Amino acid sequence: MEQSLIEVEGGCLCGKVTYQASLKPGAGACHCGMCRKWSGGPLMSVHAEGSVEFKGAEQIKHYASSEWARRGFCNYCGSNLYYHLLPRPGLPDGEYIITAGSVNDQSVLKFDHEVYVDHAPGWYSFANESQRKRMTEADLLAMYGA
Ligand SMILES: [Zn+2]
Ligand SMILES: [Zn+2]
Repeated sequence: MEQSLIEVEGGCLCGKVTYQASLKPGAGACHCGMCRKWSGGPLMSVHAEGSVEFKGAEQIKHYASSEWARRGFCNYCGSNLYYHLLPRPGLPDGEYIITAGSVNDQSVLKFDHEVYVDHAPGWYSFANESQRKRMTEADLLAMYGA
């Protein structure tokens, strides 16, 4: 699915960290247990293309939540900023998956996928399921060839 990129600005709640990024407008929700612990609910996020330019980067703290990604947040106000996949061949800076809520103008985002739907706890759901791609853990692992 080809999508044109959108240029956005965003940042944390206190404003000490801001960024500029090129995003693929398709936003997603992850229902996995780690994302729910980290974000307090399903993690709503959007993929950045290329590197992201941060101001106030010295305020960013990281938590390595797995062997292949770390999660960045503002050390002052606690806002979650991104999920950062480790660098790999062809993507030397790694891929940034930005929290949708940190984007300043969210009117440009389109909710088009959900992942780990088989891990969703059952007490919430989003409307209009049929308008999105919905993937289980197995779907996702198959997609990444794991
Ligand atoms: Zn902050
Ligand atoms: Zn997740």
